[in-house]
Amino acid sequence: MSIPANDPKKRSWIDVDKNSDFPIQNIPFGVYSTEATGVRVCTAISDFVVDLFELAKAGLLANVGIEESAYAQPVLNSVMKSGKAGIRKLRSRLSELLDENNSDLRDDAALRELVIKKQTDVEMLLPVQVGDYTDFYSSIEHATNVGTMFRDPNNALLPNWKHIPVGYHGRSSSIIPSGVPIHRPVGQTRPDDSAPPVFGPCKLLDFELETAFVTFEGKPLGDRISTSEADDYIFGLMLFNDWSARDIQKWEYVPLGPFLAKNFASSVSPWIVTLDALEPFRVEGPKQDPPVLPYLECEGNKNIDLNLSVLIKPENSDEHTVCESNFKYMYWSMNQQLAHHTVNGCNVKCGDMMGSGTISGKEPSSYGSMLELSWKGTKPIQMPDGSERKFLQDGDTVIMRGHCQKDGVRVGFGEVSNKILPAK
Ligand code: MN
Repeated sequence: MSIPANDPKKRSWIDVDKNSDFPIQNIPFGVYSTEATGVRVCTAISDFVVDLFELAKAGLLANVGIEESAYAQPVLNSVMKSGKAGIRKLRSRLSELLDENNSDLRDDAALRELVIKKQTDVEMLLPVQVGDYTDFYSSIEHATNVGTMFRDPNNALLPNWKHIPVGYHGRSSSIIPSGVPIHRPVGQTRPDDSAPPVFGPCKLLDFELETAFVTFEGKPLGDRISTSEADDYIFGLMLFNDWSARDIQKWEYVPLGPFLAKNFASSVSPWIVTLDALEPFRVEGPKQDPPVLPYLECEGNKNIDLNLSVLIKPENSDEHTVCESNFKYMYWSMNQQLAHHTVNGCNVKCGDMMGSGTISGKEPSSYGSMLELSWKGTKPIQMPDGSERKFLQDGDTVIMRGHCQKDGVRVGFGEVSNKILPAK
């Protein structure tokens, strides 16, 4: 399938630096707000946001088929109701309007003033009203590391792991956008196995480097989405920091899985990069051995070569890269996750969100959590300011970035960045 908006030769009349995450080949979707405009659906190019409500009011999105009012909503859900075909049409039209050869917006100074804003002059909001949120556990390196640390290095993976994309249902109410600080959670832990549990601030606060995909309206309850249909139900991806309280998790998770260790906050980046825009960066995933059951078989390259990094910025110091990983390492693909999620007839709604699971690679520098990077606190990370980190400290800002690069085109996500405040 060829998508004209992805053409690497395309250029915009807006100058885009080669290191920008937002060339004309990206056209991600988000929602911005200013005091003057209120909330507006937008796309990004270079360092700018492009206001879709103003474009629609000017009649420039007339043939897309999405109601004008959908572009003045605080979330993308109304726009997403138009489904894969509608979003593809919208992205294609925006690509046309930003093309160097199109004069409609380029030569209309008054309209440009209304439509184009500096990203630094607007506030980006949580782009989707998330209905249900599911988190998977799909990196074989991450699952192996955790199994090695907490169970048995010789049987690190549980017997189900290579047969099922393991997941759990998370909580959507505490999903927050980039920029919103979080308080260190408090709760029950049991640091001494021979003593009763204690209550207090989490001592082992961690990030999890993940991506999350957002769905279009799925099928009715009782119907399943196959691996080959999955692409049509996935709107796009965000960077996702699935904050984790490791000490709370250790004490609470048996037998029903994570609970308060996970639901105090999860952060997402402001831009949803469409699955269409990521199509050129598809790569083959790891070989699955033993073979998966037929309903999980997948045709074609379903992994994505997406470079990911995590940085920690201490309170009064510079940011420091602690992890460089890649989404392509994932053992289970998004298609398999969605097919598995719905194989029992579980329905998926417009705006549901699915986390990938912590994305670790083979190299220790590619581990996607402090738990793995510091190997349970036994190998502290040295910071440039002379401090060290086993887990996260109050005042630390955790920043995640991600981009794909190929044929001279860089399609990126921007960043998700949140500061940790002391426990309340
Ligand atoms: Mn997670």
